[in-house]
Amino acid sequence: MSDLDKLIQLLAKLPGLGPRSARRAALHLIQKKEQLLVPLAAAMDIAVERVVVCSRCGNIDTVDPCTVCRDPRRDDSVLVVVEDVADLWALERAGAINARYHVLGGTLSALDGIGPQDLSINALVTRAHAPEVKEIILALNATVDGQTTAHYITDLLGGAGVTVTRLAHGVPVGGELDYLDEGTLAAAMRSRTPF
Ligand SMILES: [Zn+2]
Repeated sequence: MSDLDKLIQLLAKLPGLGPRSARRAALHLIQKKEQLLVPLAAAMDIAVERVVVCSRCGNIDTVDPCTVCRDPRRDDSVLVVVEDVADLWALERAGAINARYHVLGGTLSALDGIGPQDLSINALVTRAHAPEVKEIILALNATVDGQTTAHYITDLLGGAGVTVTRLAHGVPVGGELDYLDEGTLAAAMRSRTPF
């Protein structure tokens, strides 16, 4: 295998890229060597050397504690629980809330044999008992496993003296009722709010 084949094969492993788009990406990188390939290689070197998992929240950053945990302007009384780092980053991109996070590292799943000991649940319970924490927001996926996990955590936090909330399920912004699936429509009706 040539060196370029190797590059293409590695690029093809990226989410959303197949062999065909990996070839195009490789060619594009090579043709834009100075503007793209060189800085990309340098950024990847830095990532390889410095990327760490935050020991407090489970986020990925180049510093530990991560930038979010270090930010003094965040509301310490609110902990947002997410399944994985991608969800944390999505909430941050949306500017959804200015609080702290806790990454579980997955959801409970009987099918995949994932139990509480495989997730960062003990650490969450410890953090929830900190005196400054008043609310735990379960920002978990609206899947069966996500909701099972939400119920499990809610039970565990019964004695922690915190309010446990979850994200609303309902009509997406810009969504048309006619296009929603029945489950979403029924959930939206149940979680209706005063106008
Ligand atoms: Zn952190």
